[in-house]
Amino acid sequence: MNEKTDHYRAVILGSGPAGLTAALYTARADLGPLVIEGVQPGGQLTITTEVENYPGFPEGIMGPQLMDLFREQAERFGTSYLTDAVSSVDLGNRPFKVRVGKRQFLADTLIIATGATARLLGLESETKLMGHGVSACATCDGWFFRDKEVAVIGGGDSACEEASFLTKFAGKVTIIHRRDELRASKIMRQRVLDNPKIELCWNRVVTEFVGAMDTGLEGVIIQDPKGGAESLLQCQGAFLAIGHQPNTGLFQGQLELDPAGYIITRPGSTRTNLPGVFACGDVQDRHYRQAVTAAGSGCMAAIDSERFLIEEGIG
Ligand code: NAP
Repeated sequence: MNEKTDHYRAVILGSGPAGLTAALYTARADLGPLVIEGVQPGGQLTITTEVENYPGFPEGIMGPQLMDLFREQAERFGTSYLTDAVSSVDLGNRPFKVRVGKRQFLADTLIIATGATARLLGLESETKLMGHGVSACATCDGWFFRDKEVAVIGGGDSACEEASFLTKFAGKVTIIHRRDELRASKIMRQRVLDNPKIELCWNRVVTEFVGAMDTGLEGVIIQDPKGGAESLLQCQGAFLAIGHQPNTGLFQGQLELDPAGYIITRPGSTRTNLPGVFACGDVQDRHYRQAVTAAGSGCMAAIDSERFLIEEGIG
């Protein structure tokens, strides 16, 4: 079969706020970028509900709608899109090679904005019952639990946000947190504490999901993290909200990553250890992880890549 190769000055991997802002800026710099959107175009905001903290939207905006606007804006200035997943990258020489199935793309600069994915507990019963009562996305699956009892595992902003969202459907929501204090921001904490449908189950970890694939989840086994007796918390739905891990599998052994797998960028820039490769958004940020900070770093990556191309005489 014939292989098709396309050569771009800027190829952007990922289509969340970081990738699409990098697209907007590289397009406006006349670099004719290609965005390889991945299998979940729009990134994490497409599986969230209302975004209340993106500046410029005083009434809030739905996550998918916000990402549609990002995409439309970048497209207006000449961004090309490919809705597919990257199979492999070869960063050994420039131009870099990006493979998507049988197609190969050459990139003078590569902007990595592949984001992060929800973390799981790693229990066998969790894998077995995923999609049968266990979920990592309240926005996607909350609807199935009308008038049911559900649990949310975690104590950060995501856990609080998901718990609040789930009260629209569920009869009762229990947040199971491994400590006796929520990590979430004050406003999210207060919202949870003030909601009569939400109960807090402190100092407990989930050791097992109980149920069967055909009948669904019956409950979760919980235990004090220090050990001791286990007990069953009955619920028909359990939502994981214990943070995220960066999507950097494609770059292992080719780029410098930190011990948690995040791409290391030079302080104050989006430059990685490889000249011509830039990283922005959650894939290189374990501290802020906000849509607006991701968008800001996407802008930085575009400017960094434009300057790099000029320095190399390709711009
Ligand atoms: P996070 O802040 O890292 O919180 C993860 C939570 O899960 C923590 O409470 C942690 O417990 C718990 N946890 C982690 N591993 C666990 C395990 N193996 N077993 C049990 N519990 C575990 O993650 P996040 O809530 O997804 O938030 C990520 C970032 O996005 C944050 O910066 C957050 O502010 C932001 N965010 C903002 C909004 C918003 O403003 N609307 C919404 C969502 C997320 P410990 O507390 O004990 O570590």
